Amino acid sequence: MVTYIFGHKSPDTDTITSSIVMANLERELGNEDAKAYRLGNINKETEYILNYLDIEAPELIESVEDDAEVILVDHNSPSESAENIENAKITKVVDHHKIAFNTAHPLFARLEPVGSTQTILYKLYKENDVEITKEIASLMLSAIISDTLLLKSPTTTEDDKKALKELAEIAELDYETYGLDMLKAGTDLSDFSIEEILALDAKQIDFKDVKSIVNQVNTASIEDVLEMKDELEKGIEEIIEREGLDLFMLLITDIVNSNSQVLVLGNAADLVEKAYGVKLEDNTALLEGVVSRKKQVVPIMTENA
Ligand code: MN
Ligand code: MN
Repeated sequence: MVTYIFGHKSPDTDTITSSIVMANLERELGNEDAKAYRLGNINKETEYILNYLDIEAPELIESVEDDAEVILVDHNSPSESAENIENAKITKVVDHHKIAFNTAHPLFARLEPVGSTQTILYKLYKENDVEITKEIASLMLSAIISDTLLLKSPTTTEDDKKALKELAEIAELDYETYGLDMLKAGTDLSDFSIEEILALDAKQIDFKDVKSIVNQVNTASIEDVLEMKDELEKGIEEIIEREGLDLFMLLITDIVNSNSQVLVLGNAADLVEKAYGVKLEDNTALLEGVVSRKKQVVPIMTENA
């Protein structure tokens, strides 16, 4: 019976590469039926990485069958997982997000508050004496770069830095040059419709009773993204209406200068003003130094809600 290994919906680089790297670890440790899958389309940044390394994307699935054996990476929340996950048998979780799941049976869970899932997988390879090949090292370091924005995000830990440096040596890559190219490839929005941009990295997060979606797009130029402001606002209003939201935050994150311009709509928009001490002008404000949704949005918004 196959062991399904996948990360979250709207997959990012950490999710995709972690499923591949975890499947390889499982197979190395004797679980020959371990296979990586994905729950959505590959984004541009991940596409760049897979092309660069000449690796195929995992197979796409939407749901898992009853009693399927499943390993979750880079997420643990059922709402971000495959359809029917509640009837599957989760055997392992390797993740760096807050705990949001429950199981009926004991399982292997490795959760650490580090910058990327790959930093944990790097440790698991070492602990299990499994060789980190050049290809595996390249996948691991790509995810560390992606999730920590080249070690600049406040989610970055000493473990991430140490892992990245060692992996860059194995991969024989100048990680700063490669990393910036990779992140820039991920900022290309030209092929996407407004609706797609608003769904690219959207996460439904409720700040206490405030029903919200927080979406994040990376860019090398905030101005370029704001050229689409009117269309983005129209699209956001439709989503708010359709989903019955109180708040929609679009973080436009400048990967070069490590700031985010936030575009905010919804009845609870003033929560953003309160949480960050800013004044929204035409629905938008600059959040200095804010790049991490997990560390600099979720806790602060929840606290002020
Ligand atoms: Mn992720
Ligand atoms: Mn991650």
